[in-house]
Amino acid sequence: MSLPLSLEAPERRRVAVRGPLSPLAASLRRDLQPLFDIGFEIPRQKALLSREGGRCPRDGVPLEFDPYRPHEHRCPVCGESFSGERQYLAWVMWYQLWLAERSVHAAALHALTGEAVLADLARSILAGYADAYLDYPNRDNVLGPGRPFFSTYLESIWLIQLCIATDLLEMSGGAQSLGGVVRERIVAPSSAIIASFDEGSSNRQVWNDAALLAAGRLLDDRTMVEGAVNGPWGVKAHIERGLLSDGSWYEGENYHFFAHRGLWYGVTMAERAGMEIPTPLRDRFQEGFAAPLATVLPDFTFPSRRDSQYRISLRQWRFAESCELGLSRAPDVRHATALHSLYAPGAASARDTGRWRSTAESERNEPASALSRADLGWRSLLFAREQASTPSMEDLALPRSALMEGQGIAVLRRHGGSLYTALDYGQSGGGHGHPDRLNVLLMHGDERWLDDMGTGSYVDPSLHW
Ligand SMILES: [Zn+2]
Repeated sequence: MSLPLSLEAPERRRVAVRGPLSPLAASLRRDLQPLFDIGFEIPRQKALLSREGGRCPRDGVPLEFDPYRPHEHRCPVCGESFSGERQYLAWVMWYQLWLAERSVHAAALHALTGEAVLADLARSILAGYADAYLDYPNRDNVLGPGRPFFSTYLESIWLIQLCIATDLLEMSGGAQSLGGVVRERIVAPSSAIIASFDEGSSNRQVWNDAALLAAGRLLDDRTMVEGAVNGPWGVKAHIERGLLSDGSWYEGENYHFFAHRGLWYGVTMAERAGMEIPTPLRDRFQEGFAAPLATVLPDFTFPSRRDSQYRISLRQWRFAESCELGLSRAPDVRHATALHSLYAPGAASARDTGRWRSTAESERNEPASALSRADLGWRSLLFAREQASTPSMEDLALPRSALMEGQGIAVLRRHGGSLYTALDYGQSGGGHGHPDRLNVLLMHGDERWLDDMGTGSYVDPSLHW
C-alpha cells in the first residue's frame, strides 16, 4: 500500500536527499526543531468561524498566524496584538491544519533520512489526534459537517495530511502499532462524515475527493476509492468540468491554485492506485500548472480577479513548488522560465518565507521573497526533480501575449513584457465568479493604471454592495 510515493522509489530518493536535495531536507528539518524544543498541544476545542476572529478590528486584515503563540495575535498593519476566545478559536483552525501538516512533513523526512525522532514526532501527532478526534463535536458548522473544523473541506485537507503521514510511516517501518488506531479512530469516522456531504461542482469537493481517495486507500475500501475518482463529482469530473479548455480553473486565480493543488493529490494518488486518468484529462491537468503564468502581471503578481486577494505575489515557496511539481511530471519551458525568475539572485529581498507556519493546503499568502530550491515544501522533497534545470537564456520563454478562450481573458504584452493590458471578458463562472466581467487591466512595470481590486474577504462590509 502506498498513496503518494511509489514503492520502488524510496531508495533512489534517499540517495538524492543525501545529495542534490540535501539543502531542502536540512531546511525542512530546521522547521521542525521548535516542535522538539517547545512541544505541541492538541487543542481540545473545535475551531470557530466568526466575523471578529482572526482579523484586526481596525484594519480588517487577517492577523498573523504563529503556531507557538495561541493567545497573542498580531496585526501585520498596525502591529497591535489581540487576544480573547474568538481570536483563539480562529487560531485553532490554522493550528489544526498546521499540526496535521507537520505529521506528514516529519514522516516524509523520516522516510527519506531515517532519523528516528522524526517518526516519534509524526506518531505522537497522529496518536494525539486519534485520542482527540471523536471528542470534537459535529455541530456549529458552516459549510458541511465536521469535527475539528466548521466546514467539511477543512477536515478533508486535515485528513489527507494524516493519511499520507500514516502511509509514509508504515512504508518506512515507523508506524509501529499506530496504523490500526488511526484507521479506527480517525480515518473511518472522518471519511464517513466527508462522504456524507458531496458538494457537487466545487473547489471544496476537489479536497473532499482527495480525502476520500486517501482514506479509501488506507481502509482498503474500493467503493470509496472508485467514487472519489470516477463518481459524478469525482477527480475526473472536476478536471473535465472545473478546469477549462485552457487549463485554468473556472473561478479566479486564487481558486485555481487551491483547486489545482487538490487535483494534484487526486491525480497522483489515482495514478499510484493504478487507476487510469484518460490522456486528454491528464493533459488538461498538466496545463493547469502553467495556466496562471499566462496572465501574470509584469511585477510577478497575479491579477486580483474574482475572489482573489489583492496583489498576491508569485514569489512564494508554494508557487515555486507548483512549478517544480509540474516540471517533475513533464518538461515545460514555461515552468523552467518561471523558476528561473523565482530563483534569480536579487529578484526579491530575502525574508522569512513563512513556510514554517504553513497551514497545509489552506494557504495564507506571504509577501514576495527571494527563493531557492531549499525553500520548497515536503511534496517537493518527495517529488521534485533531483537536479535543478539550468536553462540557457535562449531556452527561456519570452513573456507573450495570450488569449485564454476557456477563461475569457486576453493579455497583450509589449516592451519585453513590461507593458501589459488585459481584457477580462469571460463567463461569470459559478458561485465565486461574480458578475464583474469586462474589466480592462493596464500595467506598466510596477505602475498600475487600471486594476481589479479582487475580493480579499468575505466578511468585509465593502463586499455587501
Ligand atoms: Zn491592525
